[in-house]
Amino acid sequence: MLVFVSRLCVQMSEILDLTRDLIRRRSITPDDAGCQALIAERLSRAGFAIEHRRYADVDNLWATHGSGGPVLVFLGHTDVVPTGPENEWASPPFEPTIHDGRLYGRGAADMKSGVAAMTLALESYAKAHPGHRGTVALLLTSDEEGPKNEHGVRRVVEEFRRRGQRVDWCVTGEPSSIEHLGDIVRVGRRGSLSGHLRVRGVQGHVAYPDKVRNPIHLAAPALAELAATRWDEGNEAFPPTSFQVSNVRSGTGALNVVPGALEAWFNFRFCTASTAQGLRERTEAILRRHGLDFTIDWDLSGEAFLTQDGALRRAVTQACRDLLGAAPTPDTGGGTSDARFIAPLGAEVVELGPVNASIHKIDECVALDELEVLPRLHRRVAELLLGEG
Ligand SMILES: [Zn+2]
Repeated sequence: MLVFVSRLCVQMSEILDLTRDLIRRRSITPDDAGCQALIAERLSRAGFAIEHRRYADVDNLWATHGSGGPVLVFLGHTDVVPTGPENEWASPPFEPTIHDGRLYGRGAADMKSGVAAMTLALESYAKAHPGHRGTVALLLTSDEEGPKNEHGVRRVVEEFRRRGQRVDWCVTGEPSSIEHLGDIVRVGRRGSLSGHLRVRGVQGHVAYPDKVRNPIHLAAPALAELAATRWDEGNEAFPPTSFQVSNVRSGTGALNVVPGALEAWFNFRFCTASTAQGLRERTEAILRRHGLDFTIDWDLSGEAFLTQDGALRRAVTQACRDLLGAAPTPDTGGGTSDARFIAPLGAEVVELGPVNASIHKIDECVALDELEVLPRLHRRVAELLLGEG
């Protein structure tokens, strides 16, 4: 029992030390601030092959151990969101502070604890099972929290496609839990597709309707039809696809002028019953049917994906049962993550990480007892998938 307790304490101090080292680095997107170098150094010592990929101002790290398939990837980001007013924090956001059983600091939950846990899990897994089958890997970026995510995992996946890098399973250590660690495992996400619509009319005097073409009159019924359209019925994993107009702009300000143009911005949050391509085509067909002279700039932030109940979900469920005493509930809610770039490679993808109640907030924190379990949870997933031999 004493041996058991002291082993736990060593693990606790390791995960705590590494998480604190990461929080001290002010890695606000897209700045990595040395986080990846720290992790690369550790994993390199544990026998991992290290590749640094810097695209524009973004750092990406790809570390692998073993060879061939199957390939299990742990995915995360070293960047954090800005702190907000630092004087509103109970302790300085980049000075990790323990209080009442929690570790406070920017990135404590999203997601430097997850990055530290995945690193330690991989390190100890590779040391304990040097002859494991297939490949375990860590993929980190410093551009997950930014607005566009152009040079992070999206770019790395382009490179993966070029060189034929397969990914069978991907665990994202993002803060996915709601009340306590492992109550939820995220197994899918809705897709997000935005459009910027421009409708052309003919400007003129309001008193001469035969000489104008009013883009507001033309667009309004088309937008009403888009808003009333039932895009799909949803399915067992997702609610039906939703369409929302967020902004409409037209008019000159003058009360006697019919404007010459209208702009509208809208967004689809779509489920796996629809595709981005299908939604684009149906939207444009409706606008054409209304006789609009229009253009649309489309922006696909991610296709919807759902990981079926296969090897990865079974391993995650078993690991949670083994270490937390209960199976997690599969869930598809929440915002987007870099998992959306990995899923189209054909990988099974899940998100399993700490409680997300404080993420992006003042006084972000992670519970110490959950922090202590995280590396063992991730390591257990690797053992269940790639073996212990
Ligand atoms: Zn995150």
